Amino acid sequence: MYTLIKNCFLIDGINYTTPTRKDILLKNNIIEDIISSNSNLQHKQVENIIDLEDNILLPGLMDLHVHATVDGFAKIGLSPDILGKDIGTTSVFDAGTYGADTFDYFYDNLISKSITRTYAWLNVASNGLKTLNELTDMENINEEKIINTINKYKNIIVGLKARASASVVGDNSLMPIIKAKEIANKINLPLMVHIGNPPPYVDDVLNLLTKGDVITHCYHNKKESLYANNTIRKSAIAAKNRGVLFDVGHGNASFSFDVASAMIEQDFTPDFISTDIYDKNIGTIVKSQLYVISKLMLCGLSFNECIVKTTSDIAKKFNIKNTGELLVGNIADFTIIKTKNIQNMVEDSTGKKLDNSFYLEHKGTFIDGKYYGK
Ligand SMILES: [Zn+2]
Repeated sequence: MYTLIKNCFLIDGINYTTPTRKDILLKNNIIEDIISSNSNLQHKQVENIIDLEDNILLPGLMDLHVHATVDGFAKIGLSPDILGKDIGTTSVFDAGTYGADTFDYFYDNLISKSITRTYAWLNVASNGLKTLNELTDMENINEEKIINTINKYKNIIVGLKARASASVVGDNSLMPIIKAKEIANKINLPLMVHIGNPPPYVDDVLNLLTKGDVITHCYHNKKESLYANNTIRKSAIAAKNRGVLFDVGHGNASFSFDVASAMIEQDFTPDFISTDIYDKNIGTIVKSQLYVISKLMLCGLSFNECIVKTTSDIAKKFNIKNTGELLVGNIADFTIIKTKNIQNMVEDSTGKKLDNSFYLEHKGTFIDGKYYGK
């Protein structure tokens, strides 16, 4: 079936860096052609025309850090479609809400039933976020179970997740992170580490990580921030230089305008812009990935940079094929927005408020060629 998407402006930060008026022809769920608007298509059997009323069409946004759950199974979270499709994100990556003992539940009850594409970081703790002190017991890390789960869900799990905060690890300090990194090395997958209050100390955590690993919550302003006394921590610069990747992971308590602006000004830009969105912040300071993007623009990133860091950079890094850019042959996952110049107040995790005049309104979402309008 052919579908024609018309009256839209394309931006993907790579092939279209300014709003470009084009029509998109889909054959089923694939981009068949990108053509001048109002081309004569009589030779094709277009069965379905979608008029986007001059809104902007982006590649489908990808959120590297969310928390999915249903019926309170895990401590935090909402369904992938509430965290994704409904707010303009076409692919979500659950960041360790599930571990080896609970992943089957996640697959059966959420991943297999969601329209939003759902990937995962597997928590090294077997019970994931059934509790919020999941690494106080080293017995909760079971290498054999982790390997079995990864083999079973190869196309879904992109890496391991461990949370390096005092409230999570208790007296174990750095030990769970050392163990997590050992297992990640063995199975050749990246490790995503959440950084928060010490111990473990952030220098020790950073020094463990290697190329392709991810630090999430990179712009928090807690005690062990990556930025203090007007300087970026040396261990963070060294980690970036050896290929460790840095993710925003806004969350309830992990994003400071001051830290983000200062670090971005010193060229310490994030590799990915994720939300750490779940039930307790979707209605307050996080709202959506589009909303978090608007905050990063206030901190100095351009719109194109933000789009690339939420689409093609994620697709490339995690080897998700035929997505992330507006190209013939790619899958029709798109985020439809309208940009508005209206005054609105945005707030970070510290309570700081800034005036914002650039509002990104979500107008609809295409996933696998199907349109879900607002
Ligand atoms: Zn999180």
